Amino acid sequence: MTINTVNFKDSKVIVRVDFNVPLDENGNITDDTRIRGALPTLKKVLADGGALIIMSHMGKPKGKVNPKFSLGQISEAVGDALGVTVTFAPDCAKAADQAAALKSGEVLLLENLRFYPEEEGKPVGVEKGTPEFDAAKKEMKARQKEFAKTLASYADYYVMDAFGTAHRKHASTAVIADYFDNDHKMLGYLMEKEVTAVDNVLSNIKRPFTAIMGGSKVSTKIGIIDNLLGKVDNLILCGGMTYTFAKAQGGKIGNSICEDDKLDVALGVIAKAKELGVNLVLGTDCVAGDDFKNDCHTQICPANDIPEGWEGLDAGPETQKLFADAIKDAKTILWNGPAGVFEFDNFAAGSRAVAEAICQATENGAFSLIGGGDSVACINKFGMADRVSYISTGGGALLEAIEGKVLPGIAAIKG
Ligand code: AMP
Repeated sequence: MTINTVNFKDSKVIVRVDFNVPLDENGNITDDTRIRGALPTLKKVLADGGALIIMSHMGKPKGKVNPKFSLGQISEAVGDALGVTVTFAPDCAKAADQAAALKSGEVLLLENLRFYPEEEGKPVGVEKGTPEFDAAKKEMKARQKEFAKTLASYADYYVMDAFGTAHRKHASTAVIADYFDNDHKMLGYLMEKEVTAVDNVLSNIKRPFTAIMGGSKVSTKIGIIDNLLGKVDNLILCGGMTYTFAKAQGGKIGNSICEDDKLDVALGVIAKAKELGVNLVLGTDCVAGDDFKNDCHTQICPANDIPEGWEGLDAGPETQKLFADAIKDAKTILWNGPAGVFEFDNFAAGSRAVAEAICQATENGAFSLIGGGDSVACINKFGMADRVSYISTGGGALLEAIEGKVLPGIAAIKG
């Protein structure tokens, strides 16, 4: 069943979206990309004459009610985006009456699903590895099913459109699908687009394929790095990871960010790249600062010879050129994670050079896929969003999909 083939007239449709939008200290939305991403699905339901029940998580309230993460704060903005008044359900698990009263064209937004520990289904207050853990886990799984069943009872159809959480087997992203038959559950438009973009990268690789992996740590990216080594022609590793690699090879890295317990992992990546004939591109020079702030003193130095008291915060000019060279002729590009501390304007040049090279390659016919909150923030900061092929709303979900893992949110629908 696909969303395009269903007519939702006079039906109630519960849609899992990802409205985990960033808010400022006054609760105002600072980036509404995720709300805009869900609009095609939501508008389709309303245009058909259906009633909408929207559900999402926001932040990490860890199973407890916390006004800081209330979706009530964005109810009006969602209404403005849809052009209808949105009713808010202050308790997502006690919204049966509100859902029952909904008429065609009306919208109900449920409170943050993660105010209930059942959403994530992790036992609360029991340490992993303790004797009580297994029993607590079993009990929580049962409670998770009940929670999912309650959510399912609100609607005739279930639409999964939250790509950002599709790699989680949560009540609202996967378990709920068990309570709908195949004709009454489907992926939304955003999910369909994301899946197609990943397919474009994986099943239709036009070479050369260049992946750029950045960000702060090796540990959070090693799974995908290892996996990409079997697929790419060029692998650029940048950002904070640079210094773990530099130190592993005997370099001096001053105060740069480094994971000392991952030095052997870094050496393993270098060896595997060599074995597979992958062109591994690591920074040769860097822009170092004498403090972790935008207006600190800076100097350009070799990435493997950083003076004591200084830390590498961005890719240097020679490195920027190296990166651009490995990107410019690519025909498939994947970018996840910035090349420096791009949030500080003085250390954004490396990420900008990567972004610019990706845009140019795209203009020359490459398919470029950008994913992960920070690289998307980079592209937006540089005003280049409309010069790349596809910007994914998923970080972890995108990487797991590229790794070839089956995402629970998709498996729940497609089997
Ligand atoms: P991640 O969440 O692992 O993708 O990392 C993203 C973060 O990495 C961004 O907030 C960047 O500021 C940070 N980052 C990038 N390069 C460096 C660096 N050289 N030192 C410290 N942090 C960095």
